[in-house]
Amino acid sequence: MGEFLRTNLRLWLIVCGLISGAMMLVIAPVHLYAKDAADSTVANDARLGGDGARTRFVTDLSKPTDYRIFTLADPYRVIIDLPNVSFKLPQGLGENGRGLVSAFRYGLFAKGKSRIVIDVVGPVHVEQSFIMNTKDKKTAKLVVDLVPTDRASFERRQQALYRKRSKEDRNVKKASLGATIEKLTRENKPRGKKRIVIDPGHGGLDPGASGARGSREKDVVLAFAKVLKRKLEKTGKYDIKMTRTVDVFVPLAERVQIAEDYHASLMISIHADAISKRLANRTRGATIYTLSKEGSDLEAQALANKENRSDILAGIDLPPESEVEGILRDLTQRETKNQSLDFASTAFSSMRHKTKFTQNQLRSANFRVLRSAIVPSVLIELGYISNKQDEQLLKSAKWQSKLAGSLTVAIDKFLQSQ
Ligand SMILES: [Zn+2]
Repeated sequence: MGEFLRTNLRLWLIVCGLISGAMMLVIAPVHLYAKDAADSTVANDARLGGDGARTRFVTDLSKPTDYRIFTLADPYRVIIDLPNVSFKLPQGLGENGRGLVSAFRYGLFAKGKSRIVIDVVGPVHVEQSFIMNTKDKKTAKLVVDLVPTDRASFERRQQALYRKRSKEDRNVKKASLGATIEKLTRENKPRGKKRIVIDPGHGGLDPGASGARGSREKDVVLAFAKVLKRKLEKTGKYDIKMTRTVDVFVPLAERVQIAEDYHASLMISIHADAISKRLANRTRGATIYTLSKEGSDLEAQALANKENRSDILAGIDLPPESEVEGILRDLTQRETKNQSLDFASTAFSSMRHKTKFTQNQLRSANFRVLRSAIVPSVLIELGYISNKQDEQLLKSAKWQSKLAGSLTVAIDKFLQSQ
């Protein structure tokens, strides 16, 4: 890193310290349940009752459990955090709403933590929520009653809640901003093998896109990521880390953080796109994306917006990046950006012989997961899961192996030139 950059960063370090102290930040607390319950509770069913004046959400549990409930705005959601709960609910449950609820989702939120996210049609107030034992005392129900409210009262309640936890959150944020600056200014890369982070998209309560024949993006991308990991490890040249190895939700910012903390030389985010039913039959092929502020075209930016919604789907309420953080990134990002572009075109040259690509194979947009200032990152949409042929390929072990092989060749080439 040049002297000019270092001086600038030092300057920003001071600015950041001043600003972060004054910042009022709100982060949804996600570190509530340390206890990893081996005998996890099972949620067997869930349903909605009532109407727009009062809507009741009920879920049946194998036994009473702790929970925490809170609301978020933009878009309006109700979040229920639970310790390790396994959801054995009928497929498709939660897709249709009733009364004040438009839909709900559930799944593993982090190791030992589960979450239910209820989408609501407008500002609501949790009138009451409680755990009720069933008559035989063998099982329990979690009951949540929602009533409509107006934006002003919603905000008043939120503010009271935020005041309570803002002190703790401020400290968390301050520490993480400090860590970012420390990372950006650090020059010593670890010795030994080059490190690569593979990032299977989505997971847990964010299933990603749905396939023509019902497969889920979160599953096919994890399967491919595992094949790629094995191929890369076989070369004996790299250390590999995956952002997730099971069906769990990982926030987008955390994925970036994992790559930076690991000192990765490259991060590859794996996805599988979907398109409307009308176009699904004739839309096929892979695309490789890199980061750009504006997006190479409208479609690319629409996709980035969709992928960036992952955190919202999972009920995370992170404040937008501050101006200071944005400038810091811009200062350091240029070289990383060029490297990302370099790898994208190397990957395309190698993969094009093994799979079909879309017409604009190399595109860019403002993907949250590609915003590392120090780790070259690309996002590969392997194909369209909404297309029957592509979906079949995505699930084929032979195709996975072939494509992972070609990607390994590209990675070799790219990292050798670094
Ligand atoms: Zn995706």
